[in-house]
Amino acid sequence: MRVVVTGGAGFVGSHMCDVLVGRGDEVVCVDNLLTGARRNIAHLESADAFEFVETDVCEPFDVAGPVDAVMHLASPASPRDYLEHPIATLRVGSDGTFNSLDLARAKGARYLLASTSEVYGDPDVHPQPETYWGNVNPNGPRSVYDEAKRFAEAATASYRREFDTDTTIVRYFNTYGPRMRPEDGRVVSNFIVQAIQGVPITIYGDGSQTRSFGYVDDTVRGTIALLDSDHPGPVNIGNPGEFTMIELAELVLELTGSTSELTYEPLPADDPTQRRPDIAVAGRVLGWSPAVSLREGLVPTIEYFRERVLGG
Ligand code: NAD
Ligand code: UDP
Repeated sequence: MRVVVTGGAGFVGSHMCDVLVGRGDEVVCVDNLLTGARRNIAHLESADAFEFVETDVCEPFDVAGPVDAVMHLASPASPRDYLEHPIATLRVGSDGTFNSLDLARAKGARYLLASTSEVYGDPDVHPQPETYWGNVNPNGPRSVYDEAKRFAEAATASYRREFDTDTTIVRYFNTYGPRMRPEDGRVVSNFIVQAIQGVPITIYGDGSQTRSFGYVDDTVRGTIALLDSDHPGPVNIGNPGEFTMIELAELVLELTGSTSELTYEPLPADDPTQRRPDIAVAGRVLGWSPAVSLREGLVPTIEYFRERVLGG
């Protein structure tokens, strides 16, 4: 297959490119490096099967030659990033989605949208199945991300209905692993960096809010299984293991051997109180379930941050 990956120089996207190239696909990685980095794909750049195109997908773009699949991962994803780039986030979810859909339509390619558990907002159904419509503040600070992804889902579903484009939608729950940016502000990167630097671990609110953390290898495997299927989605991809932020902090302290103290900071506006995927659909239609527990996945992640932050 020849696969276009928008956002391919980002955290999840670069792992996606690795696995696709590794299995023999050709990959065209399209990224404007807003929150991604050349460093993430440097090891791929000499491969014949890999091409990097630096471009903003909010402007119409073309890829010469045949394309079998378009995976639209381009978007800031960390709350710190999307709050710093609110309009760019709305635009890549809207214009960027239309432009990548147009490419898939023109090429007769399969299209996969990377959506998010944030479409469920602060969920009052728990765990969240794909059939749950969500509880989202349409104009709060997080809406630039949540509503952009909800719009992107609507656009994707509409191309299927109106143009018969072969689309699908994956909804990622919190994913972590090597190549996250140390300063991207997400909880896993923050806690690990704070622990290995011996500075206080910043708990927002009282730390009783929950998240379910999926290791990036599991996320990528589930995504490619969905790409290879003919399922229209949406499909949740995440690890149902659910942790409070206090539990996550304690696990990070244990695994790093750090003596950092916990410090408490205000909870950001509209921060979801709980989040856990119902992954029955992924199991049934893709035969997918996560293989890596949080404890297991944190080990290589901590190793990566030690090298990145402490230089060895
Ligand atoms: P990331 O910020 O590391 O990667 C996003 C990539 O998109 C970056 O390389 C960035 O430069 C690129 N990009 C942004 N705007 C662009 C534009 N206009 N044109 C071209 N490229 C652009 O984030 P990530 O964690 O790898 O997330 C990847 C995708 O998965 C995103 O769509 C995100 O919404 C989704 N997602 C991720 C998570 C997670 O926990 N990591 C959870 C839910 C959904
Ligand atoms: N969080 C925290 N300390 C931090 C960063 C985040 O307690 O240093 C909390 C945040 O308030 C949220 C959870 O951790 O409740 C997950 O935040 P993240 O930004 O990783 O992702 P989200 O799931 O909110 O998109």
